[in-house]
Amino acid sequence: MDFPTRQGILHDSPCPSTTGMKIRGIARDLLRALLDSAREVDREGGGREFVAVLREEDGVIREFLFLPFTSTTRSASLRFDLMPLDPHVAGSVHSHPNGALRPSDADLRFFPALGRYHLILGPPFSETSWRCFTSDGKPCELEVVE
Ligand code: ZN
Repeated sequence: MDFPTRQGILHDSPCPSTTGMKIRGIARDLLRALLDSAREVDREGGGREFVAVLREEDGVIREFLFLPFTSTTRSASLRFDLMPLDPHVAGSVHSHPNGALRPSDADLRFFPALGRYHLILGPPFSETSWRCFTSDGKPCELEVVE
């Protein structure tokens, strides 16, 4: 199993800023909470995926929302019919307990429905074992801010 290095993350191009929503980064506290939650779900669920929606305030991703979803060891899917109509939704976060820090084909189908930025977390759920992708599946650099 190979884990991404900090260097690997830094080689990605910056997340594109688009009109309407400019994301400067993700709050460190939130990132830690996401990694902790993903680790818990992985441990208690025997390799289940963790899924949540990300919210931004003033261009920084600071909150996540749990949504009803079905999760198995192979996949997790959100109930789009229960999605809030929320202009602050910035994207999504989910875990890949198998450690593959890249979007699956199913991920690429659901990304565009859930905002622009999509985090994938993997074991050991440390501050370097995650990556950010745009809706079309391209890796991008998301700054961790205090
Ligand atoms: Zn996935």
